[in-house]
Amino acid sequence: MMSAWVCEHLELRYSLAPKAVEVLLKHRQLRWKDREAGGPLFSNAPGRRCTIDVASGPFPQDRRTRHGYIPHRPSVQADILQKHGSGLHFIGTWHTHPSPRPTASSLDARSILNLYRESDHDLDAFIMLIVGTDGDPATWELSAQGTFGKVVLTAKSLTGSKAFGAGGHEIDGKCPDQYSERDG
Ligand SMILES: [Zn+2]
Repeated sequence: MMSAWVCEHLELRYSLAPKAVEVLLKHRQLRWKDREAGGPLFSNAPGRRCTIDVASGPFPQDRRTRHGYIPHRPSVQADILQKHGSGLHFIGTWHTHPSPRPTASSLDARSILNLYRESDHDLDAFIMLIVGTDGDPATWELSAQGTFGKVVLTAKSLTGSKAFGAGGHEIDGKCPDQYSERDG
């Protein structure tokens, strides 16, 4: 299964490697006591069109609850450094929500914005992938935060394309409407 998220207007395209999908599927919050999980995302060749090759985390010292996830920064930093040594570049983060149609919260949006502004990098954007309870990655939300502001991308899978904006309605590829900061 290959999934991708696109914004034609901004010429963004992020596809998710099957190996990364495997990792993310395992951390879905399927039972009521499952806590949020998350971690960094990496690509061998980062850019506006790239493959998310690796999803790592969660780390033992992360703070995780049913509706909260605070990464343990030193663990994440060590992971990023270690992966950089093998040619993998940090491109963003993922975390789970206990919902079949997950959307980034306003807090989530702020955290990726701060990360983008405060990190030392030369990327046009950082991405944030919210992994929901559905097993089809096309139902997960991928947003990008960068020089162009924030945009929620349109999910596509081999079997067709669908997109879910805030509240789960279809946004049908009209990503330029999604630019401005909004509460999720
Ligand atoms: Zn969240």
